[in-house]
Amino acid sequence: MPVHVVGNVCVDTTFRVDRFPQPGETFNARSHMDGVGGKGANQAVAAARTGADVRFFAAVGTDPAAAFIRERLKNEFDLRQLSAKPLPSDRSTILVNQDGENLIVSGIDCAADFDPLRETGLLNLIAHGDILVMQGNLKSTVTNACLRAAKAASATTILNPSPLSGEALDLAAVDVVIVNQGEAFETTGKPDPEDAARDLVRRGAKAAIVTLGAAGCLLLEDGAVDLIPAVKVAVVDTSGAGDIFCGCLAGCLMKGWRLAQSARTAVAAAALAVGRRGTLEACPSRVELEKLMN
Ligand code: ATP
Repeated sequence: MPVHVVGNVCVDTTFRVDRFPQPGETFNARSHMDGVGGKGANQAVAAARTGADVRFFAAVGTDPAAAFIRERLKNEFDLRQLSAKPLPSDRSTILVNQDGENLIVSGIDCAADFDPLRETGLLNLIAHGDILVMQGNLKSTVTNACLRAAKAASATTILNPSPLSGEALDLAAVDVVIVNQGEAFETTGKPDPEDAARDLVRRGAKAAIVTLGAAGCLLLEDGAVDLIPAVKVAVVDTSGAGDIFCGCLAGCLMKGWRLAQSARTAVAAAALAVGRRGTLEACPSRVELEKLMN
């Protein structure tokens, strides 16, 4: 049964800087590199590397950036579900400072225009027992429609609402909602992660996970809280850690694992990514994930 990842893909340009610039300031980065990213692509690659049969639904342009994206993803999964639009492919600029923290801005023409229910065969492909993974890069109305369609087909739904606020989304159509601590606060107004998770469940999600960076994550399922510690690692670059977490979690759930066991494995996979540069480049390999999962 497939994991359908519906969302965005972009070309990421990552600049390593000594510190983040002040408004109006110009200085040179230590290095820069182009890669493929976007929350959707990151999560799809992580899920595929757990061994899941991934179908990735996203939109690219018809420009050289689209060719770059296709080239980088072609060995990860089938690209038949990628839509091509007469628009510039989406792009992100990522600044990473010496502490491994990041600042990201994205230009999302393709994602903003993408409606997978109208433009792809998603509705006919999604079935009982499948998993749908979504993020917040598509319009909230489109995201809600996909989540509801998946629930109507008796699929399991995982939502990582960033960068949309969870408030705009229909949590009643979500089995597992995953937010980081900042997003949890932004959506619920509750600074305590457990209170925030309980609020997300009150709003309709079946289970909630609040990722806590170097502190691991908090899982709320069936009213019980499980605090899962992070794996200790020398931090190089945290960009994409949350996406690796989400994709890996989806892959583990597809194997029929319990949510807590899946979250533990996702924490270990994310720690591997945090110890390396880049977003997709930092994603653990199939061999590494196989080791973690055995
Ligand atoms: P990002 O936006 O950087 O991709 P995020 O803000 O969505 O990440 P985080 O809570 O920062 O999400 O991280 C996701 C998961 O990655 C955490 O639950 C944890 O398991 C792992 N992780 C993040 N930072 C660290 C760290 N410093 N050491 C070990 N594991 C980490």
